[in-house]
Amino acid sequence: MQSIELRGHHLFCLLGYRGKGYSEDFCTNMTAVYETLRQNPQTVIDIIEGPDGICAAFPPDQPNHCQNPSVYRKDKELLGELGLAAGNRLSWEELIGRIAAAIQPDDIHRLCHDCPWEPYGLCQEGVAHIRQAKALRSLP
Ligand code: SF4
Repeated sequence: MQSIELRGHHLFCLLGYRGKGYSEDFCTNMTAVYETLRQNPQTVIDIIEGPDGICAAFPPDQPNHCQNPSVYRKDKELLGELGLAAGNRLSWEELIGRIAAAIQPDDIHRLCHDCPWEPYGLCQEGVAHIRQAKALRSLP
């Protein structure tokens, strides 16, 4: 089974991803990851500490934040909300289930208050979407 390495906060960024990002190359790369996970939810995610394959496509001509301590802290905090940490390995499907069970859309404002993408509300919508899908699946 294919596996993808992701740092903690990117699990959440992918839920809100709607084709917008830091550059065309960045979006091409992120869309490829997004589509792989959408089409193959059994894909195994290796949760890692620090920069991952999404960070690797960050435009070299823009100020990079991938190594900032605040970003490492966010990775750890978001993973902590799911009872996870770097080194864990589980399918994208399982991760979605954990996020839907543990995170409310409004939590994104608290957890990602320093992110420039947070005010657009796309990540809140992403969390709302997976929670709604989970609720529909549990209907009799
Ligand atoms: S608000 Fe920013 S850091 Fe948080 S999930 Fe969205 S894009 Fe990622």
